[in-house]
Amino acid sequence: MQERTDPWDITAQLDELRTQGLWRELRPLDELNGVTVRADGREWINFSSNDYLGLAHSIEMKQTLAEGIVKYGGGSGASRLVCGTHRAHAELEEALADFKGTAAALTFSSGFAVALGTIPALMGAGDTIILDKLCHASLVDAARLSGATIRVFPHNHLEKLERLLQTAKGRVLVVTESIFSMDGDAAPLREIAELKARYGAWLLVDEAHAVGVLGPQGRGLAAALGVDQQVDLHLGTLSKAFGLSGGYLAASRQVIDLLINRARSFIYSTAPPVHLAHALSSILKLIRGESGDALRSHVLSHAAQTQALLSEIGVTSPPGPAAILPVILGEASRALEVSARLREAGFLIPCIRYPTVARGSARLRITVSALHTAAQIQALGSVLRETLEPQG
Ligand SMILES: *Cc1c(COP(=O)(O)O)cnc(C)c1O
Repeated sequence: MQERTDPWDITAQLDELRTQGLWRELRPLDELNGVTVRADGREWINFSSNDYLGLAHSIEMKQTLAEGIVKYGGGSGASRLVCGTHRAHAELEEALADFKGTAAALTFSSGFAVALGTIPALMGAGDTIILDKLCHASLVDAARLSGATIRVFPHNHLEKLERLLQTAKGRVLVVTESIFSMDGDAAPLREIAELKARYGAWLLVDEAHAVGVLGPQGRGLAAALGVDQQVDLHLGTLSKAFGLSGGYLAASRQVIDLLINRARSFIYSTAPPVHLAHALSSILKLIRGESGDALRSHVLSHAAQTQALLSEIGVTSPPGPAAILPVILGEASRALEVSARLREAGFLIPCIRYPTVARGSARLRITVSALHTAAQIQALGSVLRETLEPQG
């Protein structure tokens, strides 16, 4: 008799993850406040949040949210096209368009939803999407969902990108991040913008890790490099430096009108609560202003300090400027071990493994915030030195 394997044997799948060192689990925290976190009566310094400006738990955030909740209450009750669009949503979108230097902008419930809604609304069978190899999962999934032909170029490889542009069919969309989420390095946006213009392609730049942190008023890397006007689709999240949640796409009026009519993650999802839109508008003002400038200078100086400490122990970081500093360790088991030892020593830096990064390039992903102190960074440097140095 033939032995049949149970197609629903999920235990085997889970065991496989465990043996490969790829098992993940949720670890609830009791308190998350600035850069300190608490759980089970212990306290850690958090070097893994994307709350780069330290706004998530700021007094300004609490005040504007409280004000918004008192004024607008809870949920929006329906999708944006039904009866879920409040004046506060429209005001936030106008402010985001002004911030990004585009004619219009549209907000979504998350950055992930922006990608899933936008790319399939614009691209379809017969078109070509060309992505950097290290693009975020949301961009990859969105490209797959669109039905367009997908081409991938090695990370930041301009010659390969150009070769793909030469043979691409239909409408062509080049997709990249500005600061890469797991590597902290920057895309050569000036050169990519030149190439896409030469071949008549469009360019989507995901500025999830640059907005708020880089550029004049925190407008991102494209603005810092003076190429923001060449970017056709500006994608960003409101969940990282903005310290809250949501995402946006900023572009021409026509693109935004098309998204309002076609982006399924926008159309078929309940509008984000009005108090979030209210709070995000005031946080955007803060980010653009002098307090934003001060927070940016703190986070970038903390990144420079961390980079210097890492280089003393032989870890090279991307040239920056960015708040993400990877320490690539190789095998998942090694990264898990180092992460656990840091946790013992009071630092929260979960390791990043496959499939988030390529196999064999498991890493610690250190992120700094405007709220860290020089002493905390120094202490992390000492612990890393002890942990990473060969034993014995
Ligand atoms: C976090 C992230 C997103 C998704 O944004 P959310 O608001 O968290 O859904 C998209 N792109 C990149 C590069 C990201 O790092």
